[in-house]
Amino acid sequence: MKLVFATHNRHKLEEVRAALGPGFELMTPADCGLTEEIPEDQTTLEGNAAQKAQFIHERTGLNCFADDTGLEVAALGGEPGVYSARYAGPACNSDDNINLLLARLEGKADRSARFRTVISLLIDGREYQFEGVVEGEILSSRSAGSEGFGYDPVFRPLGYDQTFAQMPMEEKNKISHRGRAVAELAAFLTAYTGAEH
Ligand code: IMP
Repeated sequence: MKLVFATHNRHKLEEVRAALGPGFELMTPADCGLTEEIPEDQTTLEGNAAQKAQFIHERTGLNCFADDTGLEVAALGGEPGVYSARYAGPACNSDDNINLLLARLEGKADRSARFRTVISLLIDGREYQFEGVVEGEILSSRSAGSEGFGYDPVFRPLGYDQTFAQMPMEEKNKISHRGRAVAELAAFLTAYTGAEH
């Protein structure tokens, strides 16, 4: 089955391709001749994932899916959430985002946080959503380790003594928000294609 993954991120594409296996031909928007930026201006992860999938479906007519992720920090009322990529401003980088997060959490006893990924799948005219969550906490300063990206140096998953920045990618993928959401998608697609085709 052919599916378009609404992302321009090659790293994500390879990760999802590995999880889905050879039964699915994954294409990027660029493979379909679409190079424009994919809009994501909704106020929820669910809204953004649906918007991105819809955008690609309208232009290709193909079955497709999109993901959106946020870091939800309990003591900050769920911030930065859907605004995780641009928490410290439109031109900020991951370092700026982490600095702002640590500043806002200074003096707070509750450091609990979770990453949440939502995947929206548009298939045969219907939408299905999948979620993956990993619970953890925000350290008071960056850990060593240069694995991963984004908030990884300050996020330690529950039950582990390493942050995501200290974990090999394969280990992170097994327990991560995105890894879990992709596993849900893969299980659904395998059952769906087995049943329908
Ligand atoms: P996206 O929806 O996957 O682009 O994620 C939005 C933002 O959430 C990213 O720009 C990162 O700041 C953050 N983020 C997403 N996934 C991760 C992760 O696995 N580790 C650390 N930060 C992440």
